[in-house]
Amino acid sequence: MTGSNKYKVIILGSGPSGLTAAIYTARANLNPLVIQGQLPGGQLTTTTEIENFPGFEDGIFGAELMEKMTKQAQRFGAELLMKYVTKVDFSKKPFKIYCEQEEFQADAVIISTGATPRMLGLDEEKSLLGFGLSTCATCDGAFFNNQEIVVVGGGDSACEEAIFLTRFGKRVRLIHRRDELRASKIMADRVKANPKIEIIWNSGITKLLSDKTNSLYGAIIKNLKTNEETTIECAAVFYAIGHKPNTDLFHDILELDENGYLITEPEGTKTNVAGIFACGDVQDHKYRQAITAAGSGCMAAIECARYLEENE
Ligand SMILES: Cc1cc2nc3c(=O)[nH]c(=O)nc-3n(C[C@H](O)[C@H](O)[C@H](O)COP(=O)(O)OP(=O)(O)OC[C@H]3O[C@@H](n4cnc5c(N)ncnc54)[C@H](O)[C@@H]3O)c2cc1C
Repeated sequence: MTGSNKYKVIILGSGPSGLTAAIYTARANLNPLVIQGQLPGGQLTTTTEIENFPGFEDGIFGAELMEKMTKQAQRFGAELLMKYVTKVDFSKKPFKIYCEQEEFQADAVIISTGATPRMLGLDEEKSLLGFGLSTCATCDGAFFNNQEIVVVGGGDSACEEAIFLTRFGKRVRLIHRRDELRASKIMADRVKANPKIEIIWNSGITKLLSDKTNSLYGAIIKNLKTNEETTIECAAVFYAIGHKPNTDLFHDILELDENGYLITEPEGTKTNVAGIFACGDVQDHKYRQAITAAGSGCMAAIECARYLEENE
């Protein structure tokens, strides 16, 4: 390992939380290293227009927003590295971070590795994400005013998203693989009682349909009991089948909840190991928004700076 691989702060991940942490720690003269991971800029680079990030009254493309955040972090001296962390050792200080064979050391670490929305695995998903296919009702519901909307899932999140989407959609069809919702009874009852929601039981999507302009216009649905396929028309399909927090690296190293999210102190970003902080979607299964991720990135940077001051 060369001396240049030792940092005060290393940030894992370059989504809104990691880059906000980078801006704040860089402005605090902590010269952070950001290890960007396999998706530089994070989840927002996989979508099109963002209408709810404050400061952009006409909206902004996800990739453009993340480019601006990246440049802002670099402007204050954050170093960005296009590598992927494969192992960490937080058992003693300095903390060790490995990208394959390469070792990095840090006095403090901010984890902002995000979460990955679960997909069905259909071929068309990649090209249609942001063009009618969405994984976030809060983010994209407003684009589909008075149109036909489909939601996939059967848990509490799917029910919550379906109910939320009735504010916009002419009708919301909830497609579920079983003949009973997995959601809590209270949520299931609310969905069933909502006149704008129609549940399509025992069914799954086998194909997403799009036109020449790559806009989604429908889906093929298969009844899993009869194998009968039908085509339905809709302007949007929302997947609400869960997220996988990107925490495989931290199993048996940091405290995780039953769904694999990093546990941080209430209203803070400290993990159970002093000097290791976590922010953004990797520790937040509730809000999962760019602005909340950025907000917690700021909190992590401030807590990290205070930790370093107290432990210098
Ligand atoms: C299609 C889509 C549309 C969305 N639209 C909106 C919207 O309109 N408005 C809104 O507010 N939110 C939206 N969201 C949600 C928003 O993108 C997330 O809440 C936000 O990006 C979370 O930020 P984050 O920094 O916590 O993590 P992420 O953005 O998930 O970034 C995680 C980062 O960690 C890195 N990483 C992962 N593993 C490793 C590793 N082992 N080593 C190094 N780096 C690693 C990745 O490369 C990535 O850079 C959308 C999400 C999706 C998927």
